Amino acid sequence: MIMSKIKEAVKRYLERHGCTSMQCRAALIDMDGVLYDSMPHHAEAWYRTIAPLGIACTREDFFLLEGSTRTRTINMFFNREYGHDAPEEVSLALYEEKVRQVRALGEASRRPAADKMIASLLAHDVRTVLVTGSSQGTLLELLDTDYPRAFNMPYRITGEDVKHGKPSPEPYLMGLQRAGVESHEAIVIENAPLGVQAGVAAGVFTVAVNTGPISATALYDAGADIVFDSMPHFAEHVDELIEVINTIGL
Ligand code: MG
Repeated sequence: MIMSKIKEAVKRYLERHGCTSMQCRAALIDMDGVLYDSMPHHAEAWYRTIAPLGIACTREDFFLLEGSTRTRTINMFFNREYGHDAPEEVSLALYEEKVRQVRALGEASRRPAADKMIASLLAHDVRTVLVTGSSQGTLLELLDTDYPRAFNMPYRITGEDVKHGKPSPEPYLMGLQRAGVESHEAIVIENAPLGVQAGVAAGVFTVAVNTGPISATALYDAGADIVFDSMPHFAEHVDELIEVINTIGL
């Protein structure tokens, strides 16, 4: 069942890109929601920042906006409520408050089975590259402890490295460049619609792992080539995915 789903997804990708074959030489991996269960904290922190302003919002709104920049996130709510962007000084103050709230919520835990996924990728000689919009020092420091040797420099792209965040393809194009591979020689591993859009716009086969409260449909609508319903589910089938990618042709 899962095997035929994987084969169909890879064939569809090849057809769409006019390729006869592909290779999995690199995996470009998102951090929040994929490697760490940090999204509930981010969503809660945003909610505690925006809701007291009297702006209508839900925690789920922030899951859907995951990966978006500060400006874009805050302006979306200002425009919805007031019909204009937030003044820059207001935006900066709100972001400061959001960061304070995230810190108050404490450390996010490592996502179960994410280490198994990384081990499978490395066992297949797939170069792992971190591609996150986050510049959050605490999680970035934890990476070396939690995922040793997986994301050594220069294989780490953060919010500091890019001009345009997801859904722009820029972070993933930079990831391809760092890994020294073409778009049909990599996979993107994402959990959020905007991140999926970024991976697809970079021309990369994009795997969505649904680790939050949003529907699989939202991830397919964003363009995901295949959606797994949890990290343990994906970790269990990552070997098969790599084998299919490396052997199937049109
Ligand atoms: Mg994410």
